[in-house]
Amino acid sequence: MPKTLFTRVRILDCSGENPFEGDLMVEGNRIVAVARPGRTLPRDGAEVIDGGGTATLMAGLIESHAHLSINNAATLTEIGAIPPEETTLIAMHNARLYLDCGITSCISAAAAKPRIDVVIRNEINAGKIPGPRLLAATPWLTVTAGLGDMRTLHMPDVTSMAIVVDGPENYRRVTRELIREGVDIVKLVISGDSFVPHAPSHSTVMSEAEVAAAAEVVHAHGKRMSAHARSAGAVKLAVKYGVKIVYHANFADEEALDMLEAAKDWIFVSPNIGFTATASQGGNGAFTEQQIRQLGFREELQGAAAGLQALKKRGVRILGGGDYGFSLTPHGDNALDLDHLVRFCGFTPMEALLSMTKHGAAAMDMPNELGQLREGFLADVVMVNGDPLTNPKVLLDRQNILAVMKDGKFHKRPST
Ligand SMILES: [Zn+2]
Repeated sequence: MPKTLFTRVRILDCSGENPFEGDLMVEGNRIVAVARPGRTLPRDGAEVIDGGGTATLMAGLIESHAHLSINNAATLTEIGAIPPEETTLIAMHNARLYLDCGITSCISAAAAKPRIDVVIRNEINAGKIPGPRLLAATPWLTVTAGLGDMRTLHMPDVTSMAIVVDGPENYRRVTRELIREGVDIVKLVISGDSFVPHAPSHSTVMSEAEVAAAAEVVHAHGKRMSAHARSAGAVKLAVKYGVKIVYHANFADEEALDMLEAAKDWIFVSPNIGFTATASQGGNGAFTEQQIRQLGFREELQGAAAGLQALKKRGVRILGGGDYGFSLTPHGDNALDLDHLVRFCGFTPMEALLSMTKHGAAAMDMPNELGQLREGFLADVVMVNGDPLTNPKVLLDRQNILAVMKDGKFHKRPST
């Protein structure tokens, strides 16, 4: 089996421990040895990658809320208007881009068309196209008048990235269909959102019977659920029916926080603050100061930060990343969340890093073989020029990403 020895690197193993100078050996697709200071590893037959004493070696990033099949869109109808063929290519190109950026795993949080994530995942797994490990999701399953329902009576065919489903029987049928097509995750849109005229963020628009029906099917098939859940009611339904990844959770009340805490062994919260954090700073010119105030982005960000602090105190695992792929949050900027979590949410740089490595791996049900640089773990490894703990933005400059290895194979080799 081919061997690779990373030597003279600062090993940031993403367990929560401080980095140390050391060597790391990969054999096949696994990390087989990690040497701490004072020890070195024999080079026997290995390709040697020399970090020169300054490069950091870390686990590949895990994006917890990916939309690979959208194309930095400004509106939801724009997404729906792109035909499936082009959408497939968009997802393929983004899959490569994510690996370029050191993102070696993605939990999809909805595909733009029903089978896109599934076919992209299958091609990646077959080694035919480059891309991260991918958990494939459905489009948003939403109700009439919910997020993503762009229809009107006189224009009934306008689509977004949602499938509009009403009533428990229809939720059962559609969920079964999409599981038959091969998804790993069923994405429910339980709450509203600030951009939806008749379903604001604090409203809970899916009925309990609909959530229960989808959950019944998902659990019967041993699949996972994730949910767009901004309102307290949506968070409570998500916990009650076994939704593993709860997105946003920004209006969670005391009871919802208690429920999340009681479920902390199996549940994850992914706040996806990138959009709000970017918007609250003007969104690179997209919003005027007046609009920032009117739309309440700063208050929303402060609210999210307070909620995350409360969840962190209660021991709920927080995931990083989310909703990159819109015009405000272009693909490739995902690692900005490391900075957002530190700057706006009171995380330590290490806590922010674990949200995109160790905890992401646990959310993928791979806590003992992914997301950390440890013996026996899968070799998803990124070599960085700089230190993500002292400069959380170091990963944003592609030139700092010296090497990307996924499953023991180089996607990007260090230039010699
Ligand atoms: Zn999303």
